[in-house]
Amino acid sequence: MQQITHDVVILGTGLAGLRAAVEICMKTRGAADIGIVSKVQVMRSHSVCAEGGTAAVMRPEEGDSFELHAWDTVKGADFLADQDTVDRFVRASPDEIRLLEHWGVPWSRREDGRIMQRPFGGHSFPRACMAADKTGFFEMQALYDTLLKYGFKRYDECFATSLLLDDGRFAGLTLYDAPAGEFFVLRGKTLLIASGGLGNLYGFTTYSQTVTGDGQAIAYRAGLALEDPEFLQFHPTGLVPSGILMTEGCRGEGGYLRNSKGERFMEKYAPKMMELAPRDIVSRSEMTEILEGRGFPGPDGLDYIQLDLTHLGAERINKRLPLIREVCMKFLGIDPIAEPIPIRPVAHYSMGGIEADIDGRTRVENIWAAGEVACHSMHGANRLGCNSTAECLVWGGITGREIAAYLGKGPKLNEPPERMAREEEKRIFDGLLTQSGTENPAHIRRELRALMDRHAGVYRTGDSMREGMNKIAELKQRFRRIAVQDKSRIYNSNLIQTLETANMLELAEVLLTAGAAREESRGAHARTDFPKRDDEKFLAHSMVYCTGAAPRLESKPVTITAWKPVERKY
Ligand SMILES: Cc1cc2nc3c(=O)[nH]c(=O)nc-3n(C[C@H](O)[C@H](O)[C@H](O)COP(=O)(O)OP(=O)(O)OC[C@H]3O[C@@H](n4cnc5c(N)ncnc54)[C@H](O)[C@@H]3O)c2cc1C
Repeated sequence: MQQITHDVVILGTGLAGLRAAVEICMKTRGAADIGIVSKVQVMRSHSVCAEGGTAAVMRPEEGDSFELHAWDTVKGADFLADQDTVDRFVRASPDEIRLLEHWGVPWSRREDGRIMQRPFGGHSFPRACMAADKTGFFEMQALYDTLLKYGFKRYDECFATSLLLDDGRFAGLTLYDAPAGEFFVLRGKTLLIASGGLGNLYGFTTYSQTVTGDGQAIAYRAGLALEDPEFLQFHPTGLVPSGILMTEGCRGEGGYLRNSKGERFMEKYAPKMMELAPRDIVSRSEMTEILEGRGFPGPDGLDYIQLDLTHLGAERINKRLPLIREVCMKFLGIDPIAEPIPIRPVAHYSMGGIEADIDGRTRVENIWAAGEVACHSMHGANRLGCNSTAECLVWGGITGREIAAYLGKGPKLNEPPERMAREEEKRIFDGLLTQSGTENPAHIRRELRALMDRHAGVYRTGDSMREGMNKIAELKQRFRRIAVQDKSRIYNSNLIQTLETANMLELAEVLLTAGAAREESRGAHARTDFPKRDDEKFLAHSMVYCTGAAPRLESKPVTITAWKPVERKY
């Protein structure tokens, strides 16, 4: 089997992967040999979709501070965030904004020429630096441009299927090179996993079709722990019926949420912060309004709430939210300057992920993780808006520095176990691709996503999650009898989606297992059968391990340095 070797392998070319690559190049003065892998083209990573902004303390002289940003993040996280991690994050993010400024991001500006910042949910100071409502797009462009100054090798449209360890260390990734139809091993002295989130576990989601949690699943199967997977964020404003994100920037700019009685109902739930309360609270408030009959009837049971921007005026909308306007007009024929937008809570972000420490290091000595795939425990049970792109940049930088320093120590190259690579090739090309069966993997994927909408939504119960687990077990059985229709080796998207579906089945099981075991309500995990937070029993991270049978659950203490948990009021 073909093997290609680099010093560093980076799985994922979103904000986290590209930021790390730039840092490694800078720290090693371009000497490190880097291979970067993406299952799509580099610039099609989901990060280009980030709209609203990136959080950083830029105005201490106007009243913001690291302490305030840290407190907002910890309180937003419902006290499950590791506070040392949060502290490091808030101190590092302003430098990332300035770096991106030097690398070419056209930040929106205030009248006085300084970088503009808009209000965002759960932040008690306007903290979202933005490039209109296309922030991620410009950040990605600036990073990629910067990276072009150095040498690196791209593996676009190469799908990672498994992680090979040798002697407990990273040895290689197995990859399906879709355009060439080849299967090969990418070796490296170190690996950074920056493969993004898993939003497509749900049917109604803001995420690109390709965001299926492969990195989490691959790492989990190789023995790494997944941390806090039950905390899945529902964003309050997903466009009905597509799920396309209407950025929190809409409410940051002053947008209202209204029920079918025309009421700004958030005054009942968060009288102080109103529409700009944290996402978990706004999403639950919307669902309560809908469940109690004050929503608007929508298609396919997607009853909705209205996001009203009409009072903002044409100039503000055109300047600050041009993408939102364009999407509403193209997808619904609605112009938000004149009409309210139909929205409801939508699956958006995974607070959990591969366990990584404050330096982004996993339990495997030469593997780091950064970005949405990782759980450095900085978002706890609920992430604040615009803290994710910032996290990707901060931990892209941190892991980049860590990896560069590690390379300086002259680490050895491990030998990928040939037998395991061959078995993986056989599993895919002699197994999945050629087997004849009666089940269509696309149907299983669709059923899984609908199941997650139903059994692991904004509100959950133990019974509904256990029922979901039983259904997943049935889907897993059916998956054994699938047939992939397209039998070719070249550019087989049918095969790729089948591999993704296998990963999604695994992660859905993990999410529900951890969710059923957490008998409390905290952050995004809201159980109607256990409506209260229970710090005595559950102020701890969930850790989930792959056993080959049912996932094994353990827990890990939360690092509390500055703030003891108190009731969250907004
Ligand atoms: C619509 C939308 C708007 C958002 N807006 C904001 C915002 O305004 N502010 C904010 O802070 N956050 C926002 N977020 C969240 C934030 O954008 C993401 O969490 C973040 O961009 C994730 O970046 P990443 O680098 O971790 O991964 P991604 O950008 O998702 O990149 C993942 C990479 O991994 C690769 N990959 C995955 N699996 C495989 C595989 N099997 N083989 C090979 N390659 C693989 C992909 O090809 C891709 O290159 C938004 C998210 C969405 C969906």
